Amino acid sequence: MKLILLGPPGVGKGTQAQKICEQFNAEQISTGDMLRGEIKAGTELGKKAEEIIKAGKLVPDDIILGMVENKLFGVNKPKKYILDGFPRTIPQAEGLDQMYGRHNEKLDMVISLEAPEELIIKRLSARRSCKNCNQVYHLVTMPPKKENVCDKCGGPLFQREDDKPETVKNRLEVYKKQTEPLIDYYDKKGLLKTVDSTGTPNEVHEKILKALE
Ligand code: AMP
Repeated sequence: MKLILLGPPGVGKGTQAQKICEQFNAEQISTGDMLRGEIKAGTELGKKAEEIIKAGKLVPDDIILGMVENKLFGVNKPKKYILDGFPRTIPQAEGLDQMYGRHNEKLDMVISLEAPEELIIKRLSARRSCKNCNQVYHLVTMPPKKENVCDKCGGPLFQREDDKPETVKNRLEVYKKQTEPLIDYYDKKGLLKTVDSTGTPNEVHEKILKALE
């Protein structure tokens, strides 16, 4: 299983990637989580990425492609995985194709999650993430059992800086300009399936399972 979950910020990529990965014992590969890890660790890459992320802009393609190639084809390369938040630009998608070419592998499917913008904005304002394990919650539809505490690891929950309204606006604009063209890119390759992401996390999960059949 080599899948891409495509869609705007807040559409449910992270939540759905976590569910599919649990079910199929696959690895969730989120470039956003990887970058937040670099920031937390105070690396050079993290320092470069921090301001860009805060502004809701995209980290340069060459940095992202290097990071992803290490993860997908380096030591401990995963057999089954879901790419969440990557690719985000046409050059990243082309770079990924070239990587698969070099390593003689191929992508199985791209699932594009869709939801209206009002719902996406609501979801982002209610999103909380675990500082330790990155598990995602929604204050209304998927709250933790104990307020502000992660069900999985007991870590503290927080609201991402870039989920605040001003940055969300930029992120949605960046998505439309730079990421949305990927829908057409993968459709032309015959790899795209579209899934309506407006229901509860479990309802959307069921729809994804159908698309995967
Ligand atoms: P995410 O957690 O996927 O919403 O990503 C958070 C932020 O990290 C994005 O708004 C970007 O600034 C940066 N980022 C994550 N993935 C990528 C990517 N594939 N290309 C460029 N920037 C990215």
